[in-house]
Amino acid sequence: MIEEPDPEYRTGIGTDIHLLVEGRKLMLGGVQLAYPAGLAGHSDGDAAIHAVIDALLGASGMGDIGTVFPDNDPRYKGIDSKQLLVEVKDRLEAAYWRVINVDLIIQAEEPSLKPVKGQMKRVIAGLLGIDFTAVNVKAKTAEGLGDIGAGRAIAATAAVLLRKKARRRI
Ligand code: MG
Repeated sequence: MIEEPDPEYRTGIGTDIHLLVEGRKLMLGGVQLAYPAGLAGHSDGDAAIHAVIDALLGASGMGDIGTVFPDNDPRYKGIDSKQLLVEVKDRLEAAYWRVINVDLIIQAEEPSLKPVKGQMKRVIAGLLGIDFTAVNVKAKTAEGLGDIGAGRAIAATAAVLLRKKARRRI
């Protein structure tokens, strides 16, 4: 009998924070929200997607978002962060990593994220090609404290688990 090698599991964490500025569309968790201000950034500023990307890159040992997608590279100016997430997912797949789950926390004083959490879950799960139930989105305020509490910034933290399918030697 040939024994299957044990699969390899790795976890990763990611965090991000962006300034809220007037006159930009607000992209968060891959969803556009109706709000008079949006997140500043070289890309579309989606701090939640960026936190997920950094967690995935961390778990797979592939570095960090700033190294993989430099913010002085004109190719990424104004880019939809969903495209960056798909690019990372492709890199993971090429290295035989599969995403088991994503847990995401978004801290925003405003707007209320409660009505869009489900949509964010669906968007992120769809981009990663995993089940809707494998993505969890938690929305919190900062209880009025600091820059997030004052509505000057939105932050996100993500944790992920990856599984590498063990390949039998032949
Ligand atoms: Mg960022």
